[in-house]
Amino acid sequence: MATTIKATCPMCGDIEVFSTDVFIRMSEEMGWATYVFTCNECCCQVEKDADSSVVSLLKTAGVRVDTVSSEIFDYTNGVPLTSDDLLDFALWLRSTPNATVNDLVGDTTRPTST
Ligand SMILES: [Zn+2]
Repeated sequence: MATTIKATCPMCGDIEVFSTDVFIRMSEEMGWATYVFTCNECCCQVEKDADSSVVSLLKTAGVRVDTVSSEIFDYTNGVPLTSDDLLDFALWLRSTPNATVNDLVGDTTRPTST
């Protein structure tokens, strides 16, 4: 059974959402967490920082937790993107209108700088 949670939408003010309509996005390795909900009045998705006490409270209410791997924040490998890389990427996106993430990650023909 969903629990009712009080939250604040930046547009609508104080609202109530069901715990099933909220999720926690966190990286314990990186030491941060946010909670995300869709406002039931304006339909905006709202994401707010969550300290450990808020995370604990939301978990108690049955809110789902999405764990984010620190690997996605690993910027230490590779070389910085250049404006040519971004232009190549934009051209590739234009020529591949139905591109998926798998196309981007697994496709060896994806744009490369020349
Ligand atoms: Zn709202």
